This record gives sequence, C-alpha cells and structure tokens, in this order.
Amino acid sequence: MLCRKLLKKFPKATHIGLSNYIGGSGFPWNILQVHPVNYRTMAKSKFEYVRSFEADDTCLPNCWVVVRLDGRNFHKFADQHNFTKPNDERALRLMNKCAATVMEELGDIVIAYGQSDEYSFVFKKKSNWFKRRASKFMTHVVSQFSSSFVFYWSEHFKDQTLLYPPGFDGRVILYPNNQNLRDYLSWRQADCHINNLYNTTFWALVQQGGLSNSLSEERLKGTVAGDKNEILFSEFNINYNKEPEIYRKGTVLTWCKVEENSNKRITPLGEQEGKDVVIKRTRSRVLPFHVDIIANQFWEERPEILADDS
Ligand SMILES: [Mg+2]
Repeated sequence: MLCRKLLKKFPKATHIGLSNYIGGSGFPWNILQVHPVNYRTMAKSKFEYVRSFEADDTCLPNCWVVVRLDGRNFHKFADQHNFTKPNDERALRLMNKCAATVMEELGDIVIAYGQSDEYSFVFKKKSNWFKRRASKFMTHVVSQFSSSFVFYWSEHFKDQTLLYPPGFDGRVILYPNNQNLRDYLSWRQADCHINNLYNTTFWALVQQGGLSNSLSEERLKGTVAGDKNEILFSEFNINYNKEPEIYRKGTVLTWCKVEENSNKRITPLGEQEGKDVVIKRTRSRVLPFHVDIIANQFWEERPEILADDS
C-alpha cells in the first residue's frame, strides 16, 4: 500500500530506481523505517529468511522414486456408492483411467501398478522433475489423480452419482536398484492376489453360500490358498484361475508405441483439387496390461523400463 502511494507521488520511479529517484528530493525517509534503498527489494529481503524453514526433501539421486497413493476410508466409500463385491469393474477402470491421466499429464513416470484402491507410480531414476523434491512428486500425483477421479466418475458410473468428494493419501519411497524396485512391485501384486483370493471366497460364501459375514470370516480363519481354491471349486464351481485377470493380477500401465492413422487433405503440385490422404504416425501411449509382473518375462519383453538411462 505504502509503495503504491510512493509510486503515485513519484510516477517516474520504478521498483529498481525508486530510491535514486527520490533520494535527493527531501523525501521523509523515516516513514519507510528501512534504509533508503529499493523499497520492494528491502521488504522481500527482510522476510525472505522464512524460506530457510522449509525442509530439504530432495530425493537421493540415481534411485527409483515410487509414489503410492491409497484411497481414504474406501470401505465406507465403496459401501455408500454400491460397489459390487468382491470387485467392482467400474471402479477399477476408473482408477486405471485416473492413473493413465497422471502418467500423461506429469513427467518422467515409466510404469504404474494398481489394484483395489491403491496405485504406485515409478519415476525415472534420472528424473530431475521439480528438482526431485519428494513433496512435489507426491502432491502432484495425488492431486492429479484425485481431480481425475471426480472428473471421470460419471463416465464409469453411469447410474451412480458421486455422493461426496473422495480423498487419497500418498507416500514416497526410494529404491536404489532394479531388484528392489521389482521386489516392491512384486509385493504389491502378491498383495493383490492374496486379497482377491480371500475376497472372492469370502463373498462366494456370503452371496452364494448364504453365510453371514462373521460365519464366512470364521470359515476362512487359518485357511491357506489351496483351501480357498478348493472351497471355490467344490462348493461354488468357481475355478479361481479363470477369474478375470484384472481382478487377479491388477493393472500395469506402461508406455507403448502405437501406430495411429489420421486423415489430412493435401493439394498436389500443379493440381487444383485437394485430396484426402492417410498419414501414419507412431506415438507413445499409456496402455493397460493385466499380467504377471513377478516373473521375468514381463521385464525381458520390455527392457526399456529398467534401462540404465531411465
Ligand atoms: Mg487401500
């Protein structure tokens, strides 16, 4: 406010030369209460020290940066929005759409893996996006994902309105080598398998077997994977291995080269009439896969993901 008044009084003064302009003018310096130098710079300098309170959260160089987000209180959210049990395909496809949007909108994400209400995004080891600040990686991923979840909701849930704004938490984890990163992703996919086998059996007992939730829980206490497969097969005629892969394996998103055709109208030299031609272009697109990422095959077929210059 004070500065605006000064500029009004001394219209030729700029923020660079204000003090020089008014230096010899008999200007009452005491009202500024600072040394008679550039007023705006002085104000900035005086308060700038507060920046030193910010924590340095630069991620260690040459490490994979993983951001994992997770739905806040999604048990309640799923119930209130009538998600089908044990899996709601609309919700999974919406999650995949949001994750693909994150990869397309932000920089340097080489692969993402999602299951249930969580998604992990892997930034390149050499990424220098936002100077590798962990808070920037995390907040950009979570906010882009959350806004996409609301934005694309109605495309996936045609008969179910969004009743309240959903939330997601986020964390950043650094992995120093490829094996650690693969083990991390294997851990998440193993988690998907364990949870999905349990949920598939649990809901078969409830929905088809007529058991209450607590009796179904009791029935599954202490069972191993083989027992659950057996219950599904012998009691409900469900072959777990034939359940959709999106449920059993989750979703991997990676960049793929895709040939795309577009029409363009050109006018050949010496001709009056234009004509339509098909232009072929190779573009990088984010595509979903529901495959095993624990075994080597996936990685051997896509060596570029873990390449040294990644
Ligand atoms: Mg979760």
